Amino acid sequence: MEYGPVFGNAIKQFDVAAVKLKDVPKDLLEAAKKPKRSLIVNIPVKMDNGKIKVFTGFRVQFNDSRGPTKGGIRFHPNVSLDEVTALSFWMTVKNTVAGVPYGGGKGGIIVNPKELSEGELERLSRNYIKAIHQFVGEKIDVPAPDVYTTPQIMAWMMDEFEKIKGLHTPGVITGKPIVLGGSLGRDKATAQGGLFVLMEAIKACNITGKKIAIQGFGNAGAVMAELANNAGFKVIAVSDSKGGILNESGLDIEKLTEFKESKGSVKGFPGSKEISNEELLALECDVLVPAALESVITKENASKVKAKMILELANGPTTPEADEILNKKGIHLIPDVLANSGGVTVSYFEWVQNLYGYYWTKEEVNEKLRIKMVQAFNNLLSTKNAFKCSFRESAYIFAIKEITDAMKLKGFY
Ligand code: NAD
Repeated sequence: MEYGPVFGNAIKQFDVAAVKLKDVPKDLLEAAKKPKRSLIVNIPVKMDNGKIKVFTGFRVQFNDSRGPTKGGIRFHPNVSLDEVTALSFWMTVKNTVAGVPYGGGKGGIIVNPKELSEGELERLSRNYIKAIHQFVGEKIDVPAPDVYTTPQIMAWMMDEFEKIKGLHTPGVITGKPIVLGGSLGRDKATAQGGLFVLMEAIKACNITGKKIAIQGFGNAGAVMAELANNAGFKVIAVSDSKGGILNESGLDIEKLTEFKESKGSVKGFPGSKEISNEELLALECDVLVPAALESVITKENASKVKAKMILELANGPTTPEADEILNKKGIHLIPDVLANSGGVTVSYFEWVQNLYGYYWTKEEVNEKLRIKMVQAFNNLLSTKNAFKCSFRESAYIFAIKEITDAMKLKGFY
């Protein structure tokens, strides 16, 4: 199969790590690079005007040697098989790094959901599940939300699946509303997991300063600001799509959250100085947290970064060229597949609770999350020390080793 550009890049990361695994047979590594199953489905939907429109959707189940495949479903006009395949590979790596018993998968539909009525969105979501239901299930492939998909969409998909099968099986999908079996603590899990990792990472890298700058003030970034502030960090700068703000003595996060809710942006927050998103990335601080978009730290601005550590709460915020520059500068980078894996870890907890039919308190969820994140960090730290490489490379090395071991033990090889 010809690789598209996005999956092609993902496979380059695989190859860089794979050459260091000298005792894993080459043909086994080649086998681990191929998606197990790629579904392309055409989904007819009756639109509000009475006409049928056909949408194209995908579901790629990359590798299930460690357990059922798991990963989100994205609704976006730019979705492609190439992108979904790359994302399903990254989910395989993330789930392995996080230590949850899943393989990796991803799905998507080429659609701009903002152009659909609620009814059309519901019919599209239900019909997508109708199109792929033979290939999903709580012990087969477990979807979740991603870009522009919500707990409501997960609820429609779960309901459609249960109707087809004629049984209650809430563990078929995660990210559900609480009343339908969603987990407490899921809303803050990504940032909470990121903070648990950060506490370990600063200890391991001897970082004692507490100044933190956060790009993005959405679900991941704003919660990170709140939790880091409560944990004794000084949040000196944050930003959103409209721009950033700085206060060297630390921002009042509670007041800032109220301000953002009422004004729609962090810009103009009393007592702060306006800065651009580019300036935020170059601030004098201890920890920089990109929590917005991909590819924001590039070969153009990486040399200006002054933070001692970068915690990638966003997916893919650093380009490979920037990675090299940061590495040479001795900046510790905690990669996305570890830093933001608190989200998928609590999705795993949601699934476990669904399978048991027994639900945990928020405190129980957070304590279990802490244990998983500390374990995941320590696995990468040992790999990093053994292979004398960056945290990012150690994530790939660790994941590829675990996955190929599982394939081998199952007799795949
Ligand atoms: P979100 O939509 O809630 O928030 C995104 C934030 O980024 C908003 O504050 C937006 O204003 C800001 N933003 C947009 N363009 C910007 C720009 N040019 N410069 C600075 N800020 C900009 O999204 P989210 O759920 O917080 O996700 C953010 C990142 O975290 C994404 O990469 C996502 O994949 C990743 N992530 C999120 C979760 C989760 O559970 N929410 C889990 C894993 C990974």
